[in-house]
Amino acid sequence: MASFDYDLFVIGGGSGGVRSGRVAAALGKKVAIAEEFRYGGTCVIRGCVPKKLYVYASQFTEHFEDAEGFGWSVGERTFDWQKLVKAKEKEITRLEGLYQKGLANAGAEILHTRAELTGPNTIRLIDSGKTVTAERIVIAVGGHPTPHDALPGHELCISSNEAFDLPELPKSIIIAGGGYIAVEFANIFHGLGVETTLIYRGKEILSRFDQDMRRGLHAAMEQKGIRILCEDLIQSVTKNADGRLTAETMKHGALVADQVMLALGRVPNTKGLGLEAAGVAVNERGAIIVDAFSRTSAPGIYALGDVTDRVQLTPVAIHEAMCFIETEYKGNPTSPDHDLIATAVFSQPEIGTVGLSEEAAAKKFQDLEIYRAEFRPMKATLSGRSEKTIMKLIVNAADRKVVGVHILGHEAGEMAQLLGITLKAGCTKDDFDRTMAVHPTATEELVTMYNPTYRVKNGEKVG
Ligand SMILES: Cc1cc2nc3c(=O)[nH]c(=O)nc-3n(C[C@H](O)[C@H](O)[C@H](O)COP(=O)(O)OP(=O)(O)OC[C@H]3O[C@@H](n4cnc5c(N)ncnc54)[C@H](O)[C@@H]3O)c2cc1C
Repeated sequence: MASFDYDLFVIGGGSGGVRSGRVAAALGKKVAIAEEFRYGGTCVIRGCVPKKLYVYASQFTEHFEDAEGFGWSVGERTFDWQKLVKAKEKEITRLEGLYQKGLANAGAEILHTRAELTGPNTIRLIDSGKTVTAERIVIAVGGHPTPHDALPGHELCISSNEAFDLPELPKSIIIAGGGYIAVEFANIFHGLGVETTLIYRGKEILSRFDQDMRRGLHAAMEQKGIRILCEDLIQSVTKNADGRLTAETMKHGALVADQVMLALGRVPNTKGLGLEAAGVAVNERGAIIVDAFSRTSAPGIYALGDVTDRVQLTPVAIHEAMCFIETEYKGNPTSPDHDLIATAVFSQPEIGTVGLSEEAAAKKFQDLEIYRAEFRPMKATLSGRSEKTIMKLIVNAADRKVVGVHILGHEAGEMAQLLGITLKAGCTKDDFDRTMAVHPTATEELVTMYNPTYRVKNGEKVG
């Protein structure tokens, strides 16, 4: 039997890579992991974590305003962008350290280098030029924001990567894109006092989410003062004499702003990785093709997380890593379960969702009951804020199963986590009905909507 330098070599120190490396090492395997940038990966360094911290920062504007309705007088407010960036940096550095500590404690060898494949079981460490061998290889290299090379002036634009560390807070920003990253950043910048325009080529922001959520959030964002231009796109970006940028749009003419941010999707980090030499096949978007057990086309090489373009979320990458461990090191073949993934959009208000949208459910089931509530949250009664919470249950009439829940409102992400359990457990509408309400909360609506608001039969809305 061939002998290798390592039992497992992991390329990429992000959510999926660190989890697979750490757990394999803790099981006694000889593991090395290589990271070319910073341990923690996208989630910790320039994704979920800093994003959520900035969301918190941006929410204070409304908190200060709302406080007055409850008797508070809030004095002069100032915001220091550099202070926020510094505080964020401190926290992500702490997490980066914890990730490495976890790996070290488990006995994994931590490498700070880019790694590339040179053959089926061989990896070149770019910094040292050394080649090492491993019995198994996990590719967990993630992705990066699409640079949109075809756009004249794209090099003048920023992506989510740069947005976190801008030397100064812009006075105005144009964000291109309609996905959750574009929408979240639009809310962050607006909340921090930046004049914000969101431009998206589709009919409505957040495609694939439930229509009620999409329209509801669109209306709420516009009401706050975020300009949203749908069915339009940027055709070129140029720099003005004063250093500001002009984005020439298809329908709305020239828009001028301090920054233009492109949030137009993400590309797998597979370029130059040596996949051909190793016999690892990719699809037309450059994502690594895997089977139900995260196995690539090359024996002994596995891929997980964003690079496989299945579901691009941190918990999914971690779950795929744990399934790899079960399958390969615990003799318990386990394929990742991508069904009913609860998820959130950290917009303001938030969206929390699990299961099928009404539109997707209507394609799958003949007869649906839709339970929908739209109301002013209690806090808004005294704060005077005119905002709406929307809650929606999608029920398959044939077996009463709840197949989708969608919430637009405060802390909807937290609610989605718990609703994820109920849907995963296969709860029916009757289970919701016999659950006692928690009063006074917004979520009590979910267990007190006794009659369908309307039905959808064979794709048509009735009643
Ligand atoms: C702005 C933003 C916000 C997000 N918000 C959320 C959220 O709220 N919730 C959520 O669940 N998900 C969120 N995500 C998605 C989440 O960050 C990813 O799904 C997750 O990080 C994927 O993990 P991964 O292990 O596949 O890859 P990554 O975390 O991207 O890690 C890959 C690592 O590999 C390294 N690497 C690449 N090539 C090489 C190489 N050849 N050699 C060595 N190292 C290499 C990279 O530097 C990187 O550190 C967000 C993403 C972004 C961009």
